[in-house]
Amino acid sequence: MTDTLLEIDNLNIDYLVDKGEFRAVSDVSFTIGKGEIFGLAGESGCGKSTIAYAITRLSKAPAWIAGGSIKLDGQDLLRLPERELQKIRWKRVGMVFQSAMNSLNPLMRVEAQFHDVLFRHTGCSREQSRARGEEMFRLVGIPAHRISDYPHQFSGGMRQRIVIAICLALQPELIIMDEPTTALDVVVQREILEQVVDLQRTHGFSVLFITHDLHLMAQLCQRIGVMLKGRLVEVGDVRQVSTAPRHDYTRKLWNAIPQLPTHEQSSGVMA
Ligand code: ADP
Ligand code: MG
Repeated sequence: MTDTLLEIDNLNIDYLVDKGEFRAVSDVSFTIGKGEIFGLAGESGCGKSTIAYAITRLSKAPAWIAGGSIKLDGQDLLRLPERELQKIRWKRVGMVFQSAMNSLNPLMRVEAQFHDVLFRHTGCSREQSRARGEEMFRLVGIPAHRISDYPHQFSGGMRQRIVIAICLALQPELIIMDEPTTALDVVVQREILEQVVDLQRTHGFSVLFITHDLHLMAQLCQRIGVMLKGRLVEVGDVRQVSTAPRHDYTRKLWNAIPQLPTHEQSSGVMA
């Protein structure tokens, strides 16, 4: 047992396109500690989502994982058969994507969607999944009785919270959040992220938090990696990356958005 939960080494991912192959992720290596919130930043198209999908091997053609390893607690996910991976997805590694709120089935009550996920992974009864769902609703700040409603009866922010609740219900060790709140307005975005940080503190899971917004990331994460054109150009703790960036591109990213209070300067939940 070590303090490292996820260890990515020399990951290379190509997209096989008409003109040949295009390397979207080049020799990327980083680790995420147990109970750590790690941020992956970089402008649109630099390869963040390509990495996120590769971790749970949800990459679809034309993506091709050309090399490297992705170890979860020492076990290389790139070498596991699909049958074993199914036990890891959601149960050990949860995922919340930008458009996750649209992944809820509009024709099913939320309660039934909780049951589907929980039953598949734990074989629990309807009563058990309802009870667990209500508990998770309370955790993400939605009145428990509303679990009987349909997705369209909730706002976008609430639906995104529901997806986070479903993800947390299985108590994964790692949650990958790829631009989880980008589709939401700034106030709702902040509320949801504050809640995730709170839950992380009480439940101790690790988070891979992906966004193009470095300032938001600085308020949430302990360590940050910065990507540029498929490469990880800088990794360090938030203080170092924000006050003494080693790479010119990181400096440019900081200057690209007006300065907000950082981790150290702000008070409140996210400080
Ligand atoms: P990010 O999440 O950082 O915005 P992505 O990982 O989505 O970036 O994309 C990385 C690069 O791979 C981009 O240049 C993008 O155009 C390319 N890419 C992503 N998906 C595909 C695909 N299905 N086919 C071909 N190229 C792709
Ligand atoms: Mg992306």
